[in-house]
Amino acid sequence: MQDSQYDICIIGGGLVGLSLALALAPLDLQIIIIEAKPPAEKNKNPDESKAIALTYTSELIFKKLSIWPALISYANPIKALYISEYGKFGRCHIKAADLKLPNLGQLVPEAILLNTLTELVGKTKNIAFIRPAKVGRVDFNQRKLQVQIEGSVKVLSFTYRLLIAADGMDSQIRNSLHIKICKKDYKQAALVTRLNVSQDHQHTAYERFSPRGTLALLPIAPRRCALIITGDYNKIQTWQAFNEEAFLANLQQLMGYRLGRFSGLTKRLVFPLTMMVIEEQVKAGVIILGNAAHLLHPIAAQGFNLSLRDIATLTELIAEAKGEHKDFAKEALLQKYNELRVKDQASTICMTNNIVDIFNSESWFLQHSRQWGLLGLEYVPFLKTLFAKQAMGMRGKISKLIHGE
Ligand SMILES: Cc1cc2nc3c(=O)[nH]c(=O)nc-3n(C[C@H](O)[C@H](O)[C@H](O)COP(=O)(O)OP(=O)(O)OC[C@H]3O[C@@H](n4cnc5c(N)ncnc54)[C@H](O)[C@@H]3O)c2cc1C
Repeated sequence: MQDSQYDICIIGGGLVGLSLALALAPLDLQIIIIEAKPPAEKNKNPDESKAIALTYTSELIFKKLSIWPALISYANPIKALYISEYGKFGRCHIKAADLKLPNLGQLVPEAILLNTLTELVGKTKNIAFIRPAKVGRVDFNQRKLQVQIEGSVKVLSFTYRLLIAADGMDSQIRNSLHIKICKKDYKQAALVTRLNVSQDHQHTAYERFSPRGTLALLPIAPRRCALIITGDYNKIQTWQAFNEEAFLANLQQLMGYRLGRFSGLTKRLVFPLTMMVIEEQVKAGVIILGNAAHLLHPIAAQGFNLSLRDIATLTELIAEAKGEHKDFAKEALLQKYNELRVKDQASTICMTNNIVDIFNSESWFLQHSRQWGLLGLEYVPFLKTLFAKQAMGMRGKISKLIHGE
């Protein structure tokens, strides 16, 4: 029997694999996504998933890809960000209006984002979505792969022109290409939950560095915030062990009463945190994307946003090649993708890692420097704009998908 043929084969149907498929679908390509896990439960409580902060740039990408209308009713804008350190003088207030933007970003529960993207993929004729399925033998030279659907003995064979590994931090595809990884274990975890606030948050996100961890309160619904606490394992264990009353009292003490009284804590979820980068993101007709390519600490909410910018550039290059009737899977195009993306990736990864290092350091010098650093950001408009633009992925060469051509 003849193998089925696809233009693009995406391994991994997480946020990145699904977004890429939807970005490429209008280019009239035959796309297949292979996902290891079965579909998530339909009625899963979205409060029991992390909140994803999409930057304004990511919102523009989703708008350009016509994904935004399906998300808008679940999204909550962030119009300002207030950064401070508990008991210290340094602080910085970044307002969207000062940057002449409608908002700094939008918050969407991850479960809703994943469901919405899955539904859109299901409605797109030229995307086949196979799940739960296991990838078997991959012949990178012949651009062929075998897949086994869970519960079936039949092995399906495909040929592809371009293979995308969006299969997460332990990527099978990346490992079988023997791509070297560089990992940094922060020996930290993130605790994620939701709570009610008695006063209007006015769409302001608060990030507060404290001796008990870095706390971020993010406006996710009227009088409701997503909370993410990151810190050393022992600090996160302490937060985990508190009963609801003690948890809220500690939080209230660290965050103050700007948002009124806290109540209604939901289930707490914990994620271990590491940073990972890879030596090659393009090899043997394969592009490595998402967590498989770069794993970031969530302190600056950059992981998925960075991947969306990767997707925007890749889509733009493939569209250009298709428009000129050129081979979109040829090595030169893949290398061009690599060249165009390394700068933004390196600066985003560096910025995130520096924030983690600087705000977790107990060195006297760094403790003082960060106070002056925050004040510098607050009082030097140029620095504030530079920082905000870096955090929103608005520096350097910007994909046409972002600036709307
Ligand atoms: C606490 C926390 C908060 C975060 N907050 C933010 C935020 O506010 N903003 C932001 O931009 N980012 C944030 N991130 C990062 C964001 O969650 C990730 O960047 C994003 O989820 C990466 O998606 P992915 O699709 O690359 O990987 P994954 O979500 O890991 O998806 C990979 C998929 O591949 C599948 N898979 C694995 N192996 C195989 C295989 N062999 N065959 C087939 N399928 C396979 C998996 O089942 C999975 O569905 C946060 C991360 C954490 C931990």
